[in-house]
Amino acid sequence: MVGAKFGFLYTRRVDHAVEGEPRIATVRKRTSFASQLAGMVAVIVPPIGVLSAMGVLWGVAFGPLDVAVFVVLYVLCGLGTTAGWHRYFAHKGFETSAPVKALLAILGSMAMQGPLTQWVTDHRKHHALSDKPGDPHSPHAGREPGVWSAALGLFHAHVGWLFVTKGMERGPEYARDLYADRLVRWIDRLYLLWVAVTLGIPFAVGYVFGGLDAGLEAMVWGGFVRIFAFQHVTFSINSVCHMFGKQAYMARDESRNVWALAPFSFGESWHNNHHAFPASARHGLERRQLDVAYLTIRGLERLGLVWDVKRPNEEQRARRRLAPLAGAGSRPAEPGSADA
Ligand SMILES: [Zn+2]
Ligand SMILES: [Zn+2]
Repeated sequence: MVGAKFGFLYTRRVDHAVEGEPRIATVRKRTSFASQLAGMVAVIVPPIGVLSAMGVLWGVAFGPLDVAVFVVLYVLCGLGTTAGWHRYFAHKGFETSAPVKALLAILGSMAMQGPLTQWVTDHRKHHALSDKPGDPHSPHAGREPGVWSAALGLFHAHVGWLFVTKGMERGPEYARDLYADRLVRWIDRLYLLWVAVTLGIPFAVGYVFGGLDAGLEAMVWGGFVRIFAFQHVTFSINSVCHMFGKQAYMARDESRNVWALAPFSFGESWHNNHHAFPASARHGLERRQLDVAYLTIRGLERLGLVWDVKRPNEEQRARRRLAPLAGAGSRPAEPGSADA
């Protein structure tokens, strides 16, 4: 079978409901193999192009300092988006103090994905209407069957929605708490400053070590290319993780887990787990599911900087699990609750 051969390309139909919940039909039975392949080519080839450019330009217009700036800012701003914007501001997966909250909001702003209130509004709307009409970035909602329609859906969920359905919800309907938060509004008003900072830091580091040319070079790799790379990883959660991969838990949508994106997205690509337990600060629910954003949250928890971290316990997970795990039930229940 094609699906078995291609591992995480495999998609499984889920059209039954959890006992006691209303039956919700999936939008489509299965994504065709041709559209899966076309999607994977579209997702894999551009990063290979960027990596090739890095190889060709190594020692000429790309060097160790650029790599260092790229990695440090990718990690810091990426964690600001994943642990901060997504798990804290959008889903309240934990509690924290005002200084940590401000730091997470600013680091997330430096990933250049729009002001925080708008990002959270669009994201909560995605969860509320997931893969149904009105979802701002579903690859499925409103699509006819067929390869062309699936490819258009994938494009819409990846970047097309940014020009069509992003920011349609302008009022505080989905993010009243954030619109009422003076600290968040203040950080949002300074959004262009954070954009300047996210480009200015790499320039300054390069300039200090090697003058104007090195500053511009570091700004290209540690600024523009780093922002581009993390944006497309984030966009892939919206597109790839609603089309490819496996479903481990019952969710009301087509969300899926994609292991290949986990290291680059800091664990966001355990997206089916996330849709099943939206309030959970932990997305990689199984032992081998790498989730650096959660490891960071857990580290901050041990330092006493965050608290009330939400995680589903074993019983909540068992209720929503689609296929029993080998040895499931042998692990002790975790503290806290994050059932949706
Ligand atoms: Zn989703
Ligand atoms: Zn979410």
